[in-house]
Formats: sequence, C-alpha cells, structure tokens
Amino acid sequence: MSILQPWNLVFFVGFVIYVGTRGRFAHPTRFNENVERRVDGSEKVLLSAMLVSGLLLPVLYLFTPLLSFANYGLPEWLHWCGLVILLFALWLFWRSHADLGLNWSATLEMRKDHSITRHGVYRRIRHPMYAAIGLFSLAQALLLNNWLAGWCVVFVFAMLYVIRTPREERMLTDHFGKEYQDYMSETGRIFPRLFTRRGSDS
Ligand code: SAH
Repeated sequence: MSILQPWNLVFFVGFVIYVGTRGRFAHPTRFNENVERRVDGSEKVLLSAMLVSGLLLPVLYLFTPLLSFANYGLPEWLHWCGLVILLFALWLFWRSHADLGLNWSATLEMRKDHSITRHGVYRRIRHPMYAAIGLFSLAQALLLNNWLAGWCVVFVFAMLYVIRTPREERMLTDHFGKEYQDYMSETGRIFPRLFTRRGSDS
C-alpha cells in the first residue's frame, strides 16, 4: 500500500495536521452568525472540486491501488523541497487561522460583528490562508508520486484563487469601504507589497 512509502507517510502526517488545524479553528465559528453570503454556482463547483482533488484523490492513492496507473517518479531533492514547503504551509495555515479568528468562513461570507483583520500574518499580505493552501497543494504535488493525486489540486486551487479573490475583496470593500481600500493599498495579495501605491492592486 502506498501509505507505507516514506514520502507518502510524510504527506499523510502533514495532511492530518492540516485537517486538524482547520477543525480546531473552524469549530468556534459555528455559532458566529452570517449576515451575508455570496456563493454562486462556480464557487460551489470549485469547492467540490477542491474536496475531490484535495481529499478524495490522495486518500484513494494512499489507501487503494485504484490510481496506480498514474504513478510516476520524482527526484529525491524535489521531495525534500516538498517537505520544506509543507512545513512552511502548515505554519502559515495555523497562523492565518489564529489571526483571522471568528472572521473565518469556508466560503464568501460576512459574519455578525465582522472586523478587518490587519495584524499578524495579515499585516503585509491580504490572503495568507490562500497562500498557505496554495503551498500545501504544491507540497502535495511534490510529495506524492502520482499525477492525479499530486497535481489536480494545484490546478483546481489556482482556479479557485483566481476567481474567488477579487470577489472576496469586492465583498469586503462593499462592507468596509475606505477602511478595506486603505488596507489593500498597504498590502499585497500573497506577496508583500514593496512600495505603498494607493488605490492599486497586486
Ligand atoms: N482570503 C483570506 C481569508 C480566507 S477565509 C486569506 O486567504 O487569508 C474567507 C473569509 O475571510 C471571507 O469570507 C472574508 O469574509 C474573510 N476575510 C478575508 N480577509 C479578511 C480580513 N482581512 N479581515 C477579516 N475578514 C477577512
């Protein structure tokens, strides 16, 4: 069984920590009321695709022989890169959840008593959690020796990121107006802004 191969085991341990982190921080938000939800068909399709590529395919690859037709080999050094990326992604995922607190949602939602988080890992970038998920997906691709279980999630998450991020920023601007626009002018999306340029985007 693939789970017994060392790099697969490394990924699996990281995966358990990743899911555990989400559970630990999502739990307290259960009773935090939503005041707005902007979820359309494309958001639902992409979220379902994330579940398939980020959960179902790795589980099938690790615990069954069903995906073995798509196995391939990667050089050892790429697996080591995957491990470094995985560790950084897990740290950033934890920190972004801790900093966002009760403002967190799995999708595009505004909470009752929502406020703009600007501290911690949100001080220089607006989407540290998406950066963490993107990096975790890349680590998945570099650790699992399988085209489907490894790479599908990278493409699905890239699509989700490209479609969702501007919508999320529009929703937050609609609610917070100038306060969020000022925050945008001081930060980058996933890379810190080197120079402050008012009213522009990165
Ligand atoms: N895009 C952020 C948050 C992802 S969770 C990140 O990648 O870190 C998604 C929810 O977070 C959205 O529904 C939105 O309401 C909320 N959100 C996003 N940025 C926020 C911020 N700076 N302050 C408060 N809430 C935020």
